[in-house]
Formats: sequence, structure tokens, C-alpha cells
Amino acid sequence: MIAYDRDNIFARILRGEIPCDKVHEDDFVLAFNDINPRCPVHVLVIPKGEYVSHDDFSANASDAEIAGFTRAVGRIARAAGIAEGGYRLIANTNANGGQEVPHYHVHILGGGPVGPMVCR
Ligand code: 5GP
Repeated sequence: MIAYDRDNIFARILRGEIPCDKVHEDDFVLAFNDINPRCPVHVLVIPKGEYVSHDDFSANASDAEIAGFTRAVGRIARAAGIAEGGYRLIANTNANGGQEVPHYHVHILGGGPVGPMVCR
């Protein structure tokens, strides 16, 4: 398992050292708009705990953290008004998944057709 880097950009956002455009916060997650949005709605949801990736989170987070995170993602999408029309969740994971920031996050993408799933 890759070790958690406490200086990654999302850890610094969580500590308030770097600003973000916050859309939701609760005991388990912080959610904010992506700095480089790829869709009309592009929100990043991150757990408050120190998890590198989906691999780390799914293996090591508590049931409460996993439930809190999953509930929050759905709540944020509904609050953004994109649930009924539809949206896509992406969790880029480690090197082959194209993950750039090593703090687990889910991208919520929507606000219109998101396009083909993945191309090679
Ligand atoms: P990844 O490739 O790791 O799944 O995605 C990382 C995402 O974080 C990218 O979509 C990138 O635009 C976003 N990002 C990187 N740095 C910042 C930042 O400082 N603030 C915000 N709001 N988003 C960031």
C-alpha cells in the first residue's frame, strides 16, 4: 500500500492552508469544485481521513466512514440538481488509473451529457 503524503494538495485544502470553493462539508467529507472543471458540474468529494486512494479507503476505512462518504456523494449530486438527469462518478486510482492527487477523491461530473465512458 502506498504511504499517505500529508503534504498532498487535498490534505492542505483539508487543513485550510489552501482555499477551495466548498460545496459541502460534514463529519466525513469535504466537497469542492474542481479547479479545472471538465463538465458544467465537476465536484470533488474527499474523505476527511488520510486515505491515498479508493484501494486504501475501501480496505482500511471504517464502515461509518464508507457509509458517510457514499451518502454524501449522493446528497451532493442531488443538491447540485443533477441526480435525475444523471451524472458520472470517477475515482482514478493509483498510477494506471491516472490518479494525480494522492488523497482519495471521487469526481462528480454532470450538468449535461458526460460523453463516452473511457476510450483507449
Ligand atoms: P485525479 O487525476 O487525481 O483524479 O484528479 C485530481 C483533480 O484535482 C483534477 O481534476 C484537478 O483539476 C484537481 N485539482 C488539482 N489541484 C487542485 C486544487 O488546488 N484545487 C482544486 N479545487 N482542484 C484541484
